[in-house]
Amino acid sequence: MFNTYFPINAILAIFAVKIIFYMSTKAVRVRFAPSPTGPLHMGGVRTALYNYLFAKKHNGTFIIRIEDTDQTRFVPGAQDYIMDALNWCGILPTEGPGIGGEFGPYIQSERKAIYRPYADRLVAEDKAYIAFDTAEELTSMRDQAKKMGMPNWQYNSVTRVTMQNSLSLSSDEVQRRIDAGDPYVIRMKMPRNKDIRFEDEIRGWVVVNTNNLDDKVLFKSDGMPTYHLANIVDDHTMEISHVIRGEEWLPSAPLHVMLYEAFGWDCPSFAHLPLLLKPDGNGKLSKRDGDRLGFPVFPTNWMTSEGELFSGYREQGYFASSFVNMLAFLGWNPGTTQEIFTLEELCDSFSLSRVAKAGAKFDPDKTRWFQQQYLRSTPDSVLAKSLSHLLDASYPLDRLTTVCKLMKERATFVKDIWTEGSFLLERPNSYDEKTTRKKWKEKAPSLMTDWLSEMSKIKEFTAENIELTFKAFISSKDMGIGAVLPLFRLLVTGKGMGPSMFEISEFIGKDECMDRIKLGIDTVEAIKANA
Ligand code: GLU
Repeated sequence: MFNTYFPINAILAIFAVKIIFYMSTKAVRVRFAPSPTGPLHMGGVRTALYNYLFAKKHNGTFIIRIEDTDQTRFVPGAQDYIMDALNWCGILPTEGPGIGGEFGPYIQSERKAIYRPYADRLVAEDKAYIAFDTAEELTSMRDQAKKMGMPNWQYNSVTRVTMQNSLSLSSDEVQRRIDAGDPYVIRMKMPRNKDIRFEDEIRGWVVVNTNNLDDKVLFKSDGMPTYHLANIVDDHTMEISHVIRGEEWLPSAPLHVMLYEAFGWDCPSFAHLPLLLKPDGNGKLSKRDGDRLGFPVFPTNWMTSEGELFSGYREQGYFASSFVNMLAFLGWNPGTTQEIFTLEELCDSFSLSRVAKAGAKFDPDKTRWFQQQYLRSTPDSVLAKSLSHLLDASYPLDRLTTVCKLMKERATFVKDIWTEGSFLLERPNSYDEKTTRKKWKEKAPSLMTDWLSEMSKIKEFTAENIELTFKAFISSKDMGIGAVLPLFRLLVTGKGMGPSMFEISEFIGKDECMDRIKLGIDTVEAIKANA
């Protein structure tokens, strides 16, 4: 029992505060809700990533929902592309299509029957209305308005009385038209002159007056909800706590807030992420920019139905880890100087409060830098396995492991290790033009023949011994390293630059090294003679 001095009131107060705290902290449930209208742009992957990181950070749930209510924009293959790309990145949902979960289905077209009653409820409560105007009538209305000097005609709280809808027509007429099978949509009845406010986690308070908003269609004549209605109904019924999405959806947020209010539901928190900008900062990074400016804009390759190929990071040779690390930094920073983060580390460090408002400039050089860092920190034996997959020829893994060890500092991608370092396993079939032109002088053949005979005397052909013999050789000739080493390198590797020639020589082995030098002297001489 408490002794008499124990502050029992304080204990009770602490319990009360704790209970209130637990009741007020909603489970974090976030969703990435792409529309399968094409491949996922890297901006979309970043949205998915931030949702994922936020969920993990808060022990929450990350959900994927496919928003395919606009059947006119449906692109076959897009949904599989999206799921495959996220899978490659390691951005794995806890609930979603093909995964399941308590709140499914997770594809809106499979939820079709859910939405109509919600739209009907708003009509019954006079928060939405039925509108019969055909596409032609709307176009002619816009054209007339344009002629009268109003280029931005809207279907809104002022103009709706002049249109064909359940607010302007008698209820008998409305019923007659419905019975006659006239197509109609359901529109939001936007109230007049009302300020809509919400606090965006990234942008702060947003206030928009309803006079600037139109009466958006909520339910279409094809029996499908629009994005707006389906999105709100699903976010509510899937118990989404935070809506984290691209800035392009910010203009829709006031309507969404109004819809929550109309249904009498609590609004989730909103966070609208900054745009991804072109490298020069001039405008949004578009899908055409990538291949035009020489870098991919998509996570993985995408082939259009017309056979046009858009390149992807995966096929270019980027590691998913470096791609994800780079993406995390497009709009967020940890507030420290650390730049290399594993996905787990990102999960620990991520917070919406460190997401910037301003657009994030995409930097292709930095992207390559991340990839270089990841390549360098990957164990040689792991790189060797990837390299082995890339090669047509098969080489022993231990040999490839040393190739990776020698070359990885000079490579960005695994494939570069081979483009730059195939000479380690195969004889050169060309000789660097600049070195041949500038360094291969008249005395080069005899100099290299002398070096060959010195080399033949080395008993234990180790990098250390080769280096000692080479240094003794150049000083006996009274020559500098810069005049002799490039010739040696040219003959053995065909290159003008590369890793330590002594390590290369040890790896290649004495006999092969000597053969290459002999062969090289004749070949380079012949090239010179023909030049
Ligand atoms: N379906 C929308 C899109 O394609 C989702 C917007 C949202 O997250 O609310 O990006």
